[in-house]
Amino acid sequence: MNRYPPKSVIKQLRDESKFMCSAENCSVPYLEYHHFDPPWHLENHHRVNGMIALCPLHHRQADGGAWTTKQLHELKRRNSTINHEEISGRFNYLRNEFLLNAGGNFYYKNKYAEIALGKNRLVWFENVDEGFKALNIELFDGDQQTYFRIENNSWKIAKHIKDVECPPNGKSLKVDFTNGNFIKISFVEIPDVSSLVNKVGEFCSGKLRQESPITLVSVGLKLKEYNIHFQANKSLIGNNTMQGLISTDNPVGLWLPEK
Ligand SMILES: [Zn+2]
Repeated sequence: MNRYPPKSVIKQLRDESKFMCSAENCSVPYLEYHHFDPPWHLENHHRVNGMIALCPLHHRQADGGAWTTKQLHELKRRNSTINHEEISGRFNYLRNEFLLNAGGNFYYKNKYAEIALGKNRLVWFENVDEGFKALNIELFDGDQQTYFRIENNSWKIAKHIKDVECPPNGKSLKVDFTNGNFIKISFVEIPDVSSLVNKVGEFCSGKLRQESPITLVSVGLKLKEYNIHFQANKSLIGNNTMQGLISTDNPVGLWLPEK
């Protein structure tokens, strides 16, 4: 049996802890899964009632014996009484430039926003300390209320939370919302020009080639109310399909209609 639990078990443990570490006063969303009743070395199992979601620090402390079996069961029970209204975390990637892949199209160095939706910016990079750039994303619902925001790499989910997947390596985040929408974000380093051409295609601009190595941010997105779906290799926008385009140095890389 593989020590890493199956997806369905992880999903149940994540739901149980409301997508945060189960230790008291810890709200870290980067989760690992601890076997404690019985511990893994006594029996290889993936039973939800003998496992608990913890952040890497508290997982290590649990392995070291910080909590008794009874106390860990108590922490599991306590999870059900906690109402985590908001979940937040952070990406630590700061770069001079990022290349954005959103729905199979590429966006680079667009000035105001990489992608805008009506009069709002949807995905953009902003200068932070010492000329480094950080990621920004904002999702609004029909009442113009923000339900998901990344502000200079710090993310917060405020409403409609159905599932949050965010592994401890801090390279990705996937959020499913109760309104049927989702967002997936990941950071990948592209080490050299040939890997870049492989990823982006031959039509990869000279500037991008010069600036390699480069960090790629991939964003998958479903916004049902706007008929927008950024899949792995293509963008479905209303009745149109777009893929393989590169937009650079424009005021806005892609302007999506509000309706
Ligand atoms: Zn913790």
